[in-house]
Amino acid sequence: MQESASAIEIARKTLIQLSSRKIPPTPDNFRIVYDEIAGVKSMDSASGLADSLHEVLLAAGVQNPKYLVAAQAIKQSVDAGNWTRFKEQLSNLLPQAAPEDEVTWPVALRHLLKQLEVSHKGITLSRKREGLQRLLSNFEQDPGLPQKIHALASSWGSGISENLVNDAQQEGVPAQDAAPVPAGDGQESARAYYARIADHWRNMLMRTIKLIVIPQLAAWPEMAKKAEALLEDIRLAYAEHDVLKQGEALKSILFTLEMHGDTQQRTHEGLLQLLRLVVTSMNELVMEDKWLHGQTMIVQELLQKPLSLDMLYDAESSLKELIFKQGQLKPRLLDARDSMKKMAEVFVGRLADLVDSTNEYQEKIDGYRQKITESEDIVELNALIDHMLEDTRSISFNIRQSREILAETQQRVAESERLVQELTAKLEHVNEVAHEDFLTGTLNRRGMEQALEREFDRARRHATRLSLAMMDIDHFKRLNDRLGHATGDKALVHLSKVLKASLRSTDVLARYGGEEFIIILPDTGEAEAVEIMKRAQRDLTRNFFMHNNERVLITFSAGVAEREQDEPPESLVPRADRALYHAKQAGRNMVAGAADIAD
Ligand code: GH3
Ligand code: MG
Ligand code: MG
Repeated sequence: MQESASAIEIARKTLIQLSSRKIPPTPDNFRIVYDEIAGVKSMDSASGLADSLHEVLLAAGVQNPKYLVAAQAIKQSVDAGNWTRFKEQLSNLLPQAAPEDEVTWPVALRHLLKQLEVSHKGITLSRKREGLQRLLSNFEQDPGLPQKIHALASSWGSGISENLVNDAQQEGVPAQDAAPVPAGDGQESARAYYARIADHWRNMLMRTIKLIVIPQLAAWPEMAKKAEALLEDIRLAYAEHDVLKQGEALKSILFTLEMHGDTQQRTHEGLLQLLRLVVTSMNELVMEDKWLHGQTMIVQELLQKPLSLDMLYDAESSLKELIFKQGQLKPRLLDARDSMKKMAEVFVGRLADLVDSTNEYQEKIDGYRQKITESEDIVELNALIDHMLEDTRSISFNIRQSREILAETQQRVAESERLVQELTAKLEHVNEVAHEDFLTGTLNRRGMEQALEREFDRARRHATRLSLAMMDIDHFKRLNDRLGHATGDKALVHLSKVLKASLRSTDVLARYGGEEFIIILPDTGEAEAVEIMKRAQRDLTRNFFMHNNERVLITFSAGVAEREQDEPPESLVPRADRALYHAKQAGRNMVAGAADIAD
């Protein structure tokens, strides 16, 4: 009862609403308004649909306010029963229809399956699979992936079977021109045909970059890497904007090549000029191997680095300077020695004339004459003349006359000796331009600095270990005091020889100054470097330095330090020096490692 009473009440309200909203009182309208007032879902399918749509749009409105506006508008159209408007609004809401040529996933996959099934000349299934995998991994997130897949599948060709091509060839048609637009789906085949042509161009371009462009970029690894990357991009480029972008990248690589081509040409000319200079200087320097060695060292070091114009200019000017100075000094040095020799010979000749032929000194003088002819060393010549002076004191002939000649000769010899010393000093200075130590033939300070730079650089690049030893002869002052400075010099030469023989060919020996040496040990840890230095000590005690048939024992102390990560020479050298100090303190003839000493 209750229910029907309220139903009547609702029906009454419905009629009032219909009249106030000016809605025609059709049975449908009555039912809609009745349900609305009763608060129940209308059983009407159209309005039910509209309500569901309204709900969906409201929910979508959370993401995009556009749908809230649409929900409102659609509700009004539904309420007003304006179905034409409703239809318009609904179609506006739907996404724009895809353009004719857009490749959707189903289209792309259908095409792909078809192309996988058909055999294509020169393209194996595994190559197809490979291309597909590359595409998928590179464009996983790309919304244009279906187009790309479609284009890739098309690029395999138009589906000409091997047989078809063979048939065409038998009929005298070149394979390339066979069936440009094969029978079947006309539009699809034309597309595939152009894709095939594009693929030929792509292959040609890739071959050009690979075989012509990249080899020329060997000296510019950055650019070469860029070209390799471009090669990969070109392989995967199927969209027009990709191709245009790669065109720009190629242009920039070619521009760099063009720019460097010019520099490279001049670098080559510079290098040739330099080699000519070296060869010329070698011819002039046949008299002393040491010089020759110094010069070839410059070129060797030069050739280890990548060529640059600046470096070539530097090396060329330093070589020119060296050759010029040597050219000036060497003949003068030889002249001085020769003229002194001549003077000494003239003197001995005169002396012989003065002496009675029966005199017992005749024989002695002949001996001197012989020795002077053979002598190449100015110090030795001076000593000979000294001895002769001594001898003449007791010779019974016109002493006054011979003394005068002797005094004059000795004065001239002294002058010559001074000149020789002066020239030697100058030569030593010129030697600074090179990298070798004048006395020991090891690297000099300049050579050592370059070697340090080179070896540190190598260790950094290859992440290899590197150790450095600093050594100092023990009690060298005593040796100098006891045997003379000249013998001290010979001892230094002896030590260098023994060290060079004892060290490995990759180790670098340099005279740091006076009687101190530095050894660079590439690819070597500290413990191993300590062992190498101890072995050198043993070798030195086995190979005695001989002086006047006397065995002279030379020992040295050494400090070893291994390069820490990114440590520069300016820090490693002092660490080795501190270790050397400890070795001296510990009693000399020792090797100390930096790691073993407390700071
Ligand atoms: P220590 O064991 O402490 O090193 O004693 P030491 O006598 O070697 O002392 P120090 O290193 O101070 O002395 C170096 C000496 O080496 C002094 C110097 O006269 C000598 N010397 C340096 N350079 C040369 C050179 O080129 N030739 C010669 N003959 N001697 C040199
Ligand atoms: Mg010293
Ligand atoms: Mg010393």
